[in-house]
Amino acid sequence: MADFIRVWKEVDIEDVRQHLLIVGEARGDCSSCRALGIDYSSTKTCPNCNTVFKYVASRTREIKKIKTKRPDLIFIDMEDYKKITGRLKAQDLFSSKKLPE
Ligand SMILES: [Zn+2]
Repeated sequence: MADFIRVWKEVDIEDVRQHLLIVGEARGDCSSCRALGIDYSSTKTCPNCNTVFKYVASRTREIKKIKTKRPDLIFIDMEDYKKITGRLKAQDLFSSKKLPE
């Protein structure tokens, strides 16, 4: 019997941010330039900014469907990604307000 389980892996978040295809209900978008309406089932590069997709994340729970269509991409968890990018944004805000030492 085969099923999906999340595997923890150390990744370069900046690399993920630049090469991530985010899949919504029916279409995908590019996390690098925010282009919308990308056909996630076959698109290898962003039609807008030409970034090569290396990672995929899903806003829905259709992991199996997406995995089957895109075995070439590394599937990351959307919640994990949002958590880390949210934390980085907060750090950026914090550090820009910090007084010089
Ligand atoms: Zn793009």
